[in-house]
Amino acid sequence: MQPFRYTRPIQVQDALEIVAGEEDAAFIAGGTALVNQLRSGERRTTHLVDITDLPLVGLEVTRQGVRLSALERGTAGDERVRAGYPVVAEALLAGASPQIRNMATPGGNLLQGLRTPFYREAVLEGQREQVSTGETSDSGYRYGPIFSTGTGVYGSDLGVSLAALDAVVVAEGAGGERRLPVTEFYREPSPDKPRETFLEHGELITAIEIPASPAAARSTYLKVRERASYAYLVVSVAAALELEGDTVRSSRLALGGVAAVPWRAEAAERTLAGQRLSRDVIEAAAQAAVSGARPSPQNAYKVELVRRAVIRALETLGGRA
Ligand SMILES: Cc1cc2nc3c(=O)[nH]c(=O)nc-3n(C[C@H](O)[C@H](O)[C@H](O)COP(=O)(O)OP(=O)(O)OC[C@H]3O[C@@H](n4cnc5c(N)ncnc54)[C@H](O)[C@@H]3O)c2cc1C
Repeated sequence: MQPFRYTRPIQVQDALEIVAGEEDAAFIAGGTALVNQLRSGERRTTHLVDITDLPLVGLEVTRQGVRLSALERGTAGDERVRAGYPVVAEALLAGASPQIRNMATPGGNLLQGLRTPFYREAVLEGQREQVSTGETSDSGYRYGPIFSTGTGVYGSDLGVSLAALDAVVVAEGAGGERRLPVTEFYREPSPDKPRETFLEHGELITAIEIPASPAAARSTYLKVRERASYAYLVVSVAAALELEGDTVRSSRLALGGVAAVPWRAEAAERTLAGQRLSRDVIEAAAQAAVSGARPSPQNAYKVELVRRAVIRALETLGGRA
């Protein structure tokens, strides 16, 4: 690992100034993503600014919604979140292992980076050239996206749940505070624009805000993975429904593991609007959720996996009192 300076400020302003003033300086929170990336050579830094002593801990729950500070680690166990925003609590609990969840922070989670074919190999072997599956990025990738180009897929469980609930990322930088909806926070990176988000260098996530809604209260997170725990998603569905009797007044569906960003399944939401939540309507919505998918031969299985996961998530919500 390349040598770097380490600073641990206690004021937000100091942290902002250090990172903004140094091109390769980076914030570090729990370090569960960044340390791996530094070790593998995927990331380089000249200066790590540890933000864990900043006053960014706390969870406010009001009638309007939830405000979750960037370093708050207790959200999944909060009864008010479990009742009013089950999709968020379920997504947090579906991530990683208890040890990693105790270190990881919500701000860092949203910036953990895309899952790529090289990542696993990079961490395990320190070799970026080899792909553990034997596939190359040109020939398609078993875990790759079905809606975007490139090989990277979005893998934050929390981020997928937030995209479904129209959450907002609050960031502080040299230009003051900015509020970015999660659905507009990410972008698909390209060789000339490698950044994965619209956050500027030196901007610090201070909080995440989730608006209250009837749909948020009837929501669920379904993560499909290769083993029952301690595994990243292969695909996932965050679903939220507002029902009047058995008729859908509004719905929110977001998918993970299908694109370089958390993917909002708007066609499926339109299919559900105003309809009775029958098996036929659920199946039509699931079909709409995968419309426009462009899988490679290696990951065509994800289309059917997503379709079935959407059906399961909607049936779960339909059956909830
Ligand atoms: C073995 C393993 C399994 C995992 N499994 C899952 C899983 O199943 N699901 C899942 O969703 N995640 C999973 N993760 C990812 C994990 O959730 C993230 O590593 C973690 O959430 C990152 O949080 P952190 O505080 O450790 O971030 P760090 O590693 O400290 O930082 C990550 C990135 O965010 C930046 N950063 C951190 N905080 C801020 C801030 N407030 N403002 C601006 N920039 C910031 C850092 O500069 C860095 O670029 C797994 C990780 C590991 C190592």
